[in-house]
Amino acid sequence: MCGIVGYIGKRDAYPVLIKGLHRLEYRGYDSAGVALISEDKELHVYKTKGKVANLEQMVSQHDVSGTVGIAHTRWATHGEPNDVNAHPHYSQSESLALIHNGIIENYMLLKQVLLDNGYTFRSCTDTEVLVQFIEYVKKTNKVDLRHAVQIALREVIGAYAIAVVERGNPDQIIAARKSSPLVVGIGKDEFFLASDATPIIEYTDQVVYIKDEEIAVIRRDEPLRIINLHDIEKTPEIHTLEMSLSQLEKGGYPHFMLKEINEQPQTIVDCIRGRINVEGTDVILSGVLDNRERFLNAQRIIIVACGTSWHAALIGEHLIEDLCRIPVEVEYASEFRYRNPVIRPDDIVIAISQSGETADTLAAVELAREHGAFIYGICNVIGSSIARATDTGSYIHVGPEIGVASTKAFTGQVTVLSMLALTIAKYRQTIAPEYYRELIGELSSVPEKMRRVLEQDAQIRDLSKIFTYAHNFIYLGRGYNYPAALEGALKLKEISYIHAEGYPAAEMKHGPIALIDTEMPVVAIATTDSIYEKTISNIQEIKARKGRVIAIVTEGDTIVRNLADYCIEVPRMVENFAPLVSAIPLQLLAYYIAVNKGANVDQPRNLAKSVTVE
Ligand code: GLU
Repeated sequence: MCGIVGYIGKRDAYPVLIKGLHRLEYRGYDSAGVALISEDKELHVYKTKGKVANLEQMVSQHDVSGTVGIAHTRWATHGEPNDVNAHPHYSQSESLALIHNGIIENYMLLKQVLLDNGYTFRSCTDTEVLVQFIEYVKKTNKVDLRHAVQIALREVIGAYAIAVVERGNPDQIIAARKSSPLVVGIGKDEFFLASDATPIIEYTDQVVYIKDEEIAVIRRDEPLRIINLHDIEKTPEIHTLEMSLSQLEKGGYPHFMLKEINEQPQTIVDCIRGRINVEGTDVILSGVLDNRERFLNAQRIIIVACGTSWHAALIGEHLIEDLCRIPVEVEYASEFRYRNPVIRPDDIVIAISQSGETADTLAAVELAREHGAFIYGICNVIGSSIARATDTGSYIHVGPEIGVASTKAFTGQVTVLSMLALTIAKYRQTIAPEYYRELIGELSSVPEKMRRVLEQDAQIRDLSKIFTYAHNFIYLGRGYNYPAALEGALKLKEISYIHAEGYPAAEMKHGPIALIDTEMPVVAIATTDSIYEKTISNIQEIKARKGRVIAIVTEGDTIVRNLADYCIEVPRMVENFAPLVSAIPLQLLAYYIAVNKGANVDQPRNLAKSVTVE
């Protein structure tokens, strides 16, 4: 997690860095800091606990001049979020300042070497060990900063994206990465550096994605150089960004999350554009088309993901097994990577990650590669590590997602999985042609149906007021709507800090029903589907124990309406794609409860957007 920004060029660095930190704040907001080299070549570090706004307040009395600098917003892994543990970290002599995203796993070992050599430490972070170690290597080997970084990083085990500046040298930033993202923006006589392209897009659309074990030597008035840890010079591959600045603004909404919830009718259109033909009769997903044989012969599909993406994966499991008749296993990437799983060369591994940087999912991809499986990525961020590490894949094309609680990425992932299942089913002839076309028609109707749910915004906001002070929630669903229930519960937990559990509705009687009393709100997803009657029985069981039921029902439903305390209607949708519509009221409910509680919806406590650490 954490956000890194850097600048070197003709402008004042500070405003560029602060603006960049604001754009990256979704990645972490425990503390923020900046290092600048002033005209007299002095190195100044300012840092403080809290958000970027706290940093701005703090530096208002200080010298922030200089045309080179680096800045950081932290998501703490080692050491509590306080002033001292904030980045940048100085080296012992204070001649180097370094920012870091990731975890130095062998920091204790390196720290011992440094302690034995008289080094002392101010913070509890793994990062401070790295900057001290670089200085130690620089002194003992009598080399320049680039070589010192190179030699030091050869000794490092773990994940890092780093940037280092040096007192007395205002013409250079040295940056490097392994398993944490890093992008260099190339402007006219200036360079930008960031964890993702959002702080860069305002200035240039020309970027270079730094790869694992590569060092970027960014020097004023010189071309960018990329050299790897083993001293091999690489030609920088320049990419043109497709993102626009307006996609990064709130567009009149009070929070990014609400903007992103409301964008979904459009993001689904963007996601299916060019993939469902204009006649609405065929789906063409090039990643599947180009690897048709693989999908025809696949004996098994394993989907690896974390968090919300894992919920999308569960829906993918239903879709693929139901429509394509291929066995599917869904795995938490963090468990999969460490449990010696059976992966065969004729398996297809699908990796899902919004950011494309999720550390555990990336590691799962690497493991699958070692076992020879074919790997398909489903990511949002173009050019991200997972997108590049997979054999092929599909972007979800929902635009930058800034709100930490995922909304439009979830529905984008489910939409891609739906198109994937339809495409595979067609090739494998496991779907009747008429049903195939009917499902394409249903999928194409999702944006319009989402729009109709979004029109109930005021009603859901009113409902949220009744439940703002609940301490617990249960979310129930069956079949395709079970993962939707899990996702609804996760949304509430993430942003309102209310304890919430998602359950398959029929499981309640095996234990959790003991929790039901008049205080327990139960959100039941009871849209019309093949197990509608069974879900009704489960709602009866809750009502018999005086639980308070908020039901998500299909328009015109009268049976559940008579049972539930409150109902939210959604348009009729074939059950395969039901979560795409039932997700919307659950997102809005969680959003408004969090707003009522005064919680920071876009930056919930303890969380960060892109989980680039294990
Ligand atoms: N491990 C470092 C720390 O705790 C960096 C964490 C991050 O990526 O934000 O400070």
